Amino acid sequence: MIIQKFGGTSVGTPERMQSIAELISDGEKKIVVFSAVSGTTNTLVDICTALHKKDAEEALSLVGELSKLYTNFIIKLISKEETKEETLEIVDAYLNGIRSYAKKLFSPFIERSILAQGELISTNIFYQYLKSKGQKSVLLNALDFMRTDNSGEPDQQFIEENLQFELSKYPKKDLFICQGYICRNAFGELDNLKRGGSDYTASLIGAAIKADSIQIWTDIDGMHNNDPRIVEQTRPIQELSFKEAAELAYFGAKILHPASIRPAEEKNIPVWLKNTMEPSAHGTLIHSKSSAKGFKAVAAKDGITAIKIRSGRMLMAYGFLRNVFEVFERFKTPIDMITTSEVAVSVTIDDLTNLEGIVNELKDFGNVEVDENQTIVCVVGDYSAEGKGYASLIFNALDEIPIRMISYGGSNHNVSLLIQTEDKKAALTALNKGVFNL
Ligand code: ASP
Ligand code: MG
Repeated sequence: MIIQKFGGTSVGTPERMQSIAELISDGEKKIVVFSAVSGTTNTLVDICTALHKKDAEEALSLVGELSKLYTNFIIKLISKEETKEETLEIVDAYLNGIRSYAKKLFSPFIERSILAQGELISTNIFYQYLKSKGQKSVLLNALDFMRTDNSGEPDQQFIEENLQFELSKYPKKDLFICQGYICRNAFGELDNLKRGGSDYTASLIGAAIKADSIQIWTDIDGMHNNDPRIVEQTRPIQELSFKEAAELAYFGAKILHPASIRPAEEKNIPVWLKNTMEPSAHGTLIHSKSSAKGFKAVAAKDGITAIKIRSGRMLMAYGFLRNVFEVFERFKTPIDMITTSEVAVSVTIDDLTNLEGIVNELKDFGNVEVDENQTIVCVVGDYSAEGKGYASLIFNALDEIPIRMISYGGSNHNVSLLIQTEDKKAALTALNKGVFNL
C-alpha cells in the first residue's frame, strides 16, 4: 500500500482536483491524504481572529466568502445533478457549523474545531466527485485514528491500532481518502498537527501501516538545491538521506513539514516529493540508503537571534555551560546553534518570547550581547567520506560575507553559518556559484 498526499494548491481548483483523480487511478492500493483547498485554512484563521475580537459580523462575512467559493467549486467540479446537490448540502452543513460558533463564547476549543473544517470539506468534495464518476473509494475519518498524547505528540500506537481497525472493515477496497492535519488530542477534542501538518499526517499514516512509500505531491519538482525565490538558478535534488532531508526541512526548505521525516525514517519508508504539474518528473527521493556524497543543498532560516555570554569564570571551569543551558531550559527555549571559545559561548534562538528573562538571568554569569536579525545558512550534504575540501569551498564562496558563527562537525550532514539577514541573498547566491556551480 502507498500513501499519496496532495497539498492545498494541488486541490485548489476543480481542474486540479480532476487531474488528481486521474493521477491516483492507477489501480495501486493506497490512502490519499488531502490538505484543505488553498487559502481555506488562512481564512479559517481569520475567522477565529474575528471571533476572538468579538466581531461576529466579520466572521460571518468570511464564512460567506468560503460559501461562495465552494458553491462555484462544486458546480464546476461535479456534473451529476444528484451528487452535486448532495455535495452542496454537505459543505453547507460544515459551514453552518462554523456559523453556529459565531453565537457562542469563543474558546480555544472552538478555534481548533473551526480550523479542522477545511480538510473535512476538501476530502468530502473529492469523495463525492469520485462517486459522481462511478469511481469507488472509502472516505476515512482521520478523527477515528489520528490522536496526540498528553505532551501533544502523535500517539503512534493508538494511530496504528485504530487505523488498522478502520482499514480492516474494507478488506476488498483499495482506494481510501483521508484528511491531513486534523486529529483528536489526549482529551478526545478536535485538534490539529499545526500549520502544514498534512505532510506529518501522511508520514504518520505511512508508518502506521508500514506503507511501501509515502508520496508528497506539491507544485514543484522536489526539493531544490537552493531557494528559488532568492537565487536565479536552482535544480531539483534527486536523492537525499533522511538526515539531510530533516536538516533541510528544519532549516527553511518550505516544501516539507520538518516533523514529517521522523515517522518515515523510523519505519524506513521511502518518501517521494513529486510535482502534480509534471507527474513524470523524477522529483526527490528521501530514503535511508546513503545517497551521493558531497553537497546537496543550501537552506536559510531567518528571524534568528544570537546571544553571546563572555565570562572570565568560564576559563578552565567546568559546569559553566550547564548553568547557561539551564537558563534556556527553564524558559523552554530551544537553542539552534552553539559555538564556544575558552572565554565565551554564543548560542542562537528563534523563539524570542522569553528573551528578556533569559538575558537577565544570563547576566549573572558574565557579559551578555544580543544580536537580532540574523539568519542561519545551512549547507547540507554528506561530508562523511574523505571529508576534505568541503569547508574551504564554502568559505571561499563566502569570501565577501561577514560571518558571525560557524558550526561544523555537529553532524556529518550540515555546516551552519550565522550571518546578518541583510546578507542572505548575497550569501545564497555566492554559495550557488562557488559550491554548486550554478
Ligand atoms: N491546511 C493546513 C494548513 O494550511 C494543513 C496543511 O495544508 O498541511 O496549514
Ligand atoms: Mg505544506
